[in-house]
Amino acid sequence: MDDLPTQVESLQAQLAAIQSHLMATLWVTTFLSFVFALATAYFAARRGHNVFRWAMLGALLGPFALIIVVLIPSAKADTKVCPDCAESVKAAAVKCRFCGHRFDQPEIVPRIT
Ligand SMILES: [Zn+2]
Repeated sequence: MDDLPTQVESLQAQLAAIQSHLMATLWVTTFLSFVFALATAYFAARRGHNVFRWAMLGALLGPFALIIVVLIPSAKADTKVCPDCAESVKAAAVKCRFCGHRFDQPEIVPRIT
């Protein structure tokens, strides 16, 4: 049987090992959360969803949020392209949110008489 100071030393070493293992796990978890937040936000942006909301979900749910954002229907399906500024706006929009073009007015076609 070891004497008491040797036992204390051994326990301290074990504690230090557990602490460094916990820190490593914490860093890996934080890093993965960050990576999944970025990846999920990237796909959300490409598919016309709320980027901030999906970044949070990506950080919390990791790969699950990434799978969900890829599988849910793209919000870009119901968009139209503004004839004035060529930006994508919602299909139901009456006014372009980028340039203020109004879709309800008939296009004025110059007529040569
Ligand atoms: Zn426009």
